[in-house]
Amino acid sequence: MLEAGGLTRAGKARISQEKLERVTALLGERLFLHCTQSECVAFARASGKAPVACDPRNACQRCFGSDNARAVKEVVEACRKRGFSKLVIVGGSPTVRQELERLVPPGALELRLVDGTKARPIDQAKADLQWGDVVLLWGATELHHKVSNQYQDSATGAWKRKLVHVPKRGIAQLLAGLLTHLSPSPPRGRGSG
Ligand SMILES: [Zn+2]
Repeated sequence: MLEAGGLTRAGKARISQEKLERVTALLGERLFLHCTQSECVAFARASGKAPVACDPRNACQRCFGSDNARAVKEVVEACRKRGFSKLVIVGGSPTVRQELERLVPPGALELRLVDGTKARPIDQAKADLQWGDVVLLWGATELHHKVSNQYQDSATGAWKRKLVHVPKRGIAQLLAGLLTHLSPSPPRGRGSG
């Protein structure tokens, strides 16, 4: 492929820094890297590009090594488009909170992860609503009503739009719920979009 693109020739082992960008672009256009998950293989085959099995699996262009990682990437992207940079998540287990912190690339999104099993004073709940662009109440996980009520009671006026309730388990599902909230609503009437 690189030979056909005039970027290298047979027997050549090195490549100049200057050509590297063109190499990456060319391969990106022609190839779709996938891991061994059947969904990823199928996705790669349907991509219109040449499917290539990759190693390590986090090079997979569909799941980036896991559904969670992919979901995080989509959420980060959606937040960027909306101009959102601060996300409050209330609930979830300590393990899940660690995983979220690990998955969100540094600088991509500021996270405030709140333990949903510990009392949250109303002033603190209000401060979270003030601070965050989105405040996610993660129901169906470790979230006490006493805690979620603090947010629901405080979310009045403009803050109401910040509050999202996702009654789902699992990081991927939580993020899918968030993504739905972040997606722009379909345009009403005519408009350029
Ligand atoms: Zn994959």
